[in-house]
Amino acid sequence: MTEALARLPKMDRVLDAPALAAVAWRREVIRRVAETLLAQLRARVRERGDTAVPSAEEFARSVAARLDALFDRHPTRVLNATGVLLHTNLGRAPWSRDAIEAAIAAAGACDLEVELGSGQRGSRFAWLRPALAAVIGAEDVHVVNNNAAALLLACTVLGQPGGVVLSHGQMVEIGDGFRVATMAAAGGCRIVGVGSTNRTHATDYEAALDPARGAPASAILWVHLSNFEQHGYVAEVALPQLAAIARARGVPLIADLGSGSLGEGLPPREPTIASYLEQGADLVLASGDKLLGGPQAGIIAGRAALVEPLRRHPMARALRPDKVTLAALHATATAHARRGAIALPLHRMVGLDPAQLQARAAAVAAAIPGATVAACEATIGGGSLPGDAMPSVAVRLEHGSPSALARQLRLGTPAVVGRVEGGALWLDLRTVEPDDDAALQAALQQALDRVAR
Ligand SMILES: *Cc1c(COP(=O)(O)O)cnc(C)c1O
Repeated sequence: MTEALARLPKMDRVLDAPALAAVAWRREVIRRVAETLLAQLRARVRERGDTAVPSAEEFARSVAARLDALFDRHPTRVLNATGVLLHTNLGRAPWSRDAIEAAIAAAGACDLEVELGSGQRGSRFAWLRPALAAVIGAEDVHVVNNNAAALLLACTVLGQPGGVVLSHGQMVEIGDGFRVATMAAAGGCRIVGVGSTNRTHATDYEAALDPARGAPASAILWVHLSNFEQHGYVAEVALPQLAAIARARGVPLIADLGSGSLGEGLPPREPTIASYLEQGADLVLASGDKLLGGPQAGIIAGRAALVEPLRRHPMARALRPDKVTLAALHATATAHARRGAIALPLHRMVGLDPAQLQARAAAVAAAIPGATVAACEATIGGGSLPGDAMPSVAVRLEHGSPSALARQLRLGTPAVVGRVEGGALWLDLRTVEPDDDAALQAALQQALDRVAR
């Protein structure tokens, strides 16, 4: 091992090697990346007894490859052929052309905080706030970075001093280990857990809010069960009943909806922000990049008297979205305001007719030996109803190793992400933009050529 360690390439020789002589990167950047790779190599020799040590020139080539990969454009474009419309790992809702153009226009100097008529200082929310309020159907709206930020802000400000009451049945984990209850508490708000996993009653909430208690809770938090369902011996307090309890005790009812449907063009089973407000929620929290079909953002919609203190709180400044987000979100609100079918990619995908998908899949499969067209199910995903599946159509490849083919597709240009299931690779056409069908076909052809080699 010490002999192998002694043979590790020397940094000066690596930096002077021909493979790094003409690269586009600064010398100090090359050195830092090379040092990281060298440390990994040293660890492999020490821990696994690896004795195959590269020459300085070989190592320099691997440093050059690493630099090229590191400073290539990331994240890169992917064709989503998973059949999951809102795929969190693939960036959730794809933006509309209008949203992309609005974001590009805002990326340079823009009238973010200046009122052009008067030349005076303005608010970055001046146009977005009334536009969103009008399409959502809410008295007032505030926007933060994402729904998690909305939850943090609402609970931190409105949950003082007694904390928020939350049913144990709604202590949802949303993904990557993040839980609604701990996010709500992250700003110092106490969480008063009530009820049990399967059953929570009105009396549980009432007890937590009872002024006779030492420190009654200051607000009620309701969380939409966005990624699972409960069946069997279960009971939860319906939103209108909870609203009546909140009103009787004079505390706000905060409803974390997550998915944030506005209704039009989406399955009617999806709860809308407006329906939560109508059922008596004082504030509804939702994501911008789920069923709203826009950029990542946190929407706080509801009573102006409650939205205002959130907007004024110091934390709001830390959670405020940037101009590019605001521009894309405004374009998304505009799409919701226009007459007719909603011109957002998400809504177009939901509205696709299986017969159209069948024709597109047949056209893609026609040029690919061994590819067939098969019926499948697409899902909305991203915190919409877990049972919400819709009929879809896929190009199906029963290839020798579907996972090897799936890997080659992911590594192609553009990258394509499909689904491996039942010994086959499925490329669901519902989540692929029709304009990308030709690119999908070409990528598939290339991936098949690569696995054949
Ligand atoms: C998705 C979701 C969140 C988190 O939203 P982000 O915009 O990803 O921060 C919070 N609560 C519920 C109920 C959700 O579905």
